[in-house]
Amino acid sequence: KNIIVAIDGYSSCGKSTLAKALAKKLHFIYVDSGAMYRAVTLYFLRNQTDLSNHDLIIDALEHIDLNFHSRDYQSHILLNGEEVSEEIRQMPVSENVSKIAAIKEVRQAMVKQQQKMAKSKNMVMDGRDIGTTVFPDAQVKLFMTADPKIRAERRYKELLSKGEKVALEEIFENLAHRDYLDTTREESPLVRADDAIILDNTDLSEEEQLNFALDKIKP
Ligand code: C5P
Repeated sequence: KNIIVAIDGYSSCGKSTLAKALAKKLHFIYVDSGAMYRAVTLYFLRNQTDLSNHDLIIDALEHIDLNFHSRDYQSHILLNGEEVSEEIRQMPVSENVSKIAAIKEVRQAMVKQQQKMAKSKNMVMDGRDIGTTVFPDAQVKLFMTADPKIRAERRYKELLSKGEKVALEEIFENLAHRDYLDTTREESPLVRADDAIILDNTDLSEEEQLNFALDKIKP
C-alpha cells in the first residue's frame, strides 16, 4: 500500500520546507495543498469576482483547472495551463485565500482532487486538513507549530529574497489573521488530528526537523 505523510499546522511554520526535504529524501511525491487554495483565489482576484458572493464562486469552480508538475521536488502549479507558482505567494492572494478556503464547496472540490492524486503513489502533502479530512488514515501525521514572531520573520526573509518588500508587521498580522480564519471556520477547521505528532520547530534547524520526521516514518 502507498505511504502518505500528512503535514499540517499554522501558517508559515515551515511545513513546505520540511515536506520538500522529506519527499526528496524518501523519493516521494510532494504536494502543496495550500497552493491549490491560493491558485483558486488568484483566479477570482484576476476576474475581479466579488469574494463575498459564494454562489458565483461555486459556479465558477468548474472553469478552474489545476495541475501540478513537480521539478526538483519544488512544486509548480498550473492554473488553467499557466504557471502561477510565484504569483500565488504574493500579498493579494495571502490576504484573501483563507476566505475562499472557508467555502465548503471549494474545500470539497480540492479534497477530491487531492485524494485522487494520492492513488497508488507515495506522497508527502502539507496543508491544514490533510491528517484530519484528506487522509485520515495517513501512516504518519505531523502537526507543526512555531513561535509567531519567528514565523513572520522567516516569511519576511522569504518574500524579500524574491524581491517583494512587505513590512514585517503586515506579515505578522496576515499570519495571525489566516490562523484565526483557518481555526474558526466551520468546514474542516485547522486542528491537530488526535494521532498527529507535534513538531515545534522554533529552535530547530532544517536538518534537525528532517531527522525528527524521518525517525517517525521509519517502521
Ligand atoms: O499553506 P499555505 O499557507 O500556502 O495556505 C494558504 C491558505 O490556504 C491557508 O491559510 C488556508 O486558509 C488555506 N488552506 C486550507 N487547507 C489546506 C491548505 C491551505 O484551508 N489544506
